[in-house]
Amino acid sequence: MHIKKPDWLKIKLGETERFTQTKKIVESHGLHTICSSGRCPNMGECWDRGTATFMIGGDICTRSCKFCNTRTGRPLPLDHEEPENVAQSVKLMKLKYVVITSVDRDDLPDFGAEHWAKTIETVRRENPETTVEILVPDFQGRVELIDRVCAARPDVMAHNMETVRRLTPQIRSAAKYDVSLKTLARIAENGILSKSGIMVGLGETRDEIYELMDDLLAVGCRSLTVGQYLQPSRNHYPVREYIHPDTFEEFRKIALEKGFDTAVSGPLVRSSYHADLYFQH
Ligand code: SF4
Ligand code: SF4
Repeated sequence: MHIKKPDWLKIKLGETERFTQTKKIVESHGLHTICSSGRCPNMGECWDRGTATFMIGGDICTRSCKFCNTRTGRPLPLDHEEPENVAQSVKLMKLKYVVITSVDRDDLPDFGAEHWAKTIETVRRENPETTVEILVPDFQGRVELIDRVCAARPDVMAHNMETVRRLTPQIRSAAKYDVSLKTLARIAENGILSKSGIMVGLGETRDEIYELMDDLLAVGCRSLTVGQYLQPSRNHYPVREYIHPDTFEEFRKIALEKGFDTAVSGPLVRSSYHADLYFQH
C-alpha cells in the first residue's frame, strides 16, 4: 500500500554556491557522505551551511537493514589514508562541528574500532577547535572495542536504536535491541555524551516509543533525535504512517520531561540534523 506524502515533507534541494563547493571538496577527497548515500532530505540545507556527515570504512555495509539505502555486500579493505583525508576535508570546509559515521564492518576482527579511533585522533590533531560527533555501529556490544573508540575522546558519541523493541528484528538486519542499549550504556560509562536516534512511521505505538525513551534514559543516554522514516525505494520497508508535526513536537516535550538533556524531533530530523546547534561547547 502506498500512502501519499504530506506537504510538510516536500523539500527543496538547493544548488547554491556553498552546496556546490562542499560537494567538490567531498568528491575530490574520495569521501563518502551519508548525506548522499542515504539520500538525506536535508542535503540542500546542510551542505549549504557547510555541514556534512562523513562516512568512513567505505560505502558497502555488511548488514542490510530494511530501511537503509546503503549498499550491502563484501566491503573493500580499509583505506588507511581515510583518517587523514577526513581530517583535511574538515579543515578545508572549516567545519566547527563534524559528524562522522560508518558502515558496519562485521567482516573485520575489531569491527573497525581501531580505524574509528585513528580517524577521531587525526581529525582532532588537525582541527583542535572542531567539535567531533560520531555515530557508531554496535561493535556487537564488545566493551573493549567500544572502550578503544571512547579512548579517542569524541565529544558526542551516538548509536541509533532506529526503532522500538518489537520492530527491531524486522527493521534492523543483525542488530539487537539489548546489544544497542549495552553499547550506549558503555559509552556513558566512559563519561562521553551518549546520544541515540529513532525513526517513526514504521508502525510503532506511542507507548512503545515512550518505553524506548525510558530504556535509553536508564542506560545514561542524554540526547535523542526523532524523525520520520522515509522509504528510500520500493524495495525497502514501507512507510506505515506519516506522523504529523504536532505529534513530533509532543515527542520532543515528553522526551525533555522524562529527562533527556536535548531532544530534537521533527519530520525531517536525522541523527546529524542540526547537531551543531545543539551540542556546541
Ligand atoms: Fe545501513 Fe544497517 Fe548498514 Fe547501518 S548497519 S549502514 S543502517 S545497512
Ligand atoms: Fe547530511 Fe546529516 Fe544533514 Fe542529512 S542531516 S544532509 S546526513 S549532515
